[in-house]
Amino acid sequence: MTTDAKLEILADAAKYDVSCASSGATTRDSRDGKGLGSTNGRGICHSYTPDGRCVSLLKILLTNFCQYDCAYCINRRTSNVRRARFTVDEVVKLTIGFYRRNYIEGLFLSSGIIRSADHTMEQLVEVARRLRQEHGFRGYIHLKTIPEASPELLAAAGRYADRLSINIELPTEDGLTRLAPEKRSRTIRGAMGRLRLGIDEAEAEPKAPRFSPAGQSTQLIVGADGADDGAILGTVAGLYAGYRLKRVYYSAFSPIPEASQALPAKAPPLQREHRLYQADWLMRFYGFAAEEILAGAPDGMLDLAVDPKLAWALRHRDRFPVDVNRAERGLLLRVPGLGARTVDRIVEARRLHALRLADLARLTGGLKRALPFIVTADHCPTRLLDRADLRARLTPPPKQLSLFA
Ligand code: SF4
Repeated sequence: MTTDAKLEILADAAKYDVSCASSGATTRDSRDGKGLGSTNGRGICHSYTPDGRCVSLLKILLTNFCQYDCAYCINRRTSNVRRARFTVDEVVKLTIGFYRRNYIEGLFLSSGIIRSADHTMEQLVEVARRLRQEHGFRGYIHLKTIPEASPELLAAAGRYADRLSINIELPTEDGLTRLAPEKRSRTIRGAMGRLRLGIDEAEAEPKAPRFSPAGQSTQLIVGADGADDGAILGTVAGLYAGYRLKRVYYSAFSPIPEASQALPAKAPPLQREHRLYQADWLMRFYGFAAEEILAGAPDGMLDLAVDPKLAWALRHRDRFPVDVNRAERGLLLRVPGLGARTVDRIVEARRLHALRLADLARLTGGLKRALPFIVTADHCPTRLLDRADLRARLTPPPKQLSLFA
């Protein structure tokens, strides 16, 4: 099989891992000799660094052969897909070649499990080692880590990679036992704990060897088992607290060909994935506890029609209105329409004078949404908050805008 054919298979197989998001574009290429360039999937995707930079990564699997049989995975042992396997040498050459031509700024490498967890992990580590030590590669490396691999291999992975990730896969132990029979929650969490230890030690000691300086992350599949959003957010809160994860990525389960009977026939709405990202944001940057976000929600699910912060505020109207000139930062962060940066600007600006609506309009684009929930020097909305149609007023139905209005 040619390297190009392998690349086609192993880049496509890697797209289900959402730890970095690919840009979506229609298929177009210039292989017929006409034109220039291509939007064809050849494994290059875009990811965002913590400081907001967009980086291009070569995102591939080392192999999509796998001895495990996770029901939700297209690459599982019993799946009828085309298989391929790169050698370590091929991945190193591709990465260096693409890097030199300025196609990519880094590598995202994952793999199905072949022979054993240790054997596979050795190969992943060897790619990263050769890139760093033999080619002096200074680009970004994200390695998917196999939880069953030995602690020595995890330690070696941390020395060469910028980021490591271990997929938690499913939010509950029961879901994992049913759908990924070879995986154990204890093993996954044990490996995450080891990574956390390595990251903490490296951060605490400036002269310590590098260890995954961009931290660790994980991916969780949404909608493959029966876990509701409350269970998902509870698991995620535990992961952030216990393992200091940089990010949890949510991937809405998508039905795969010849899927197991244990899986739902339909994918969950993509909006559910979006709402989970918003709820995750509330936990990380807005001071919400996981159980608070869904407190009072009837079915343990996030409201698909409104964002979780607005949904929470509508269920807790007794906590509002909040006086923007006096309230603590934590309370201001709970006001729909006010983002963390806006809240910081408000706290700064109100030192100088009492804020009025016109001042807020200069500080935020979300004023209309915030109006029922805030008091300013010239605005007090008690009657707005009591309105039965407040939710409808804040969530007008979407409408197609005209290009020629
Ligand atoms: S171990 Fe990974 S690649 Fe293999 S079947 Fe499970 S999810 Fe898929």
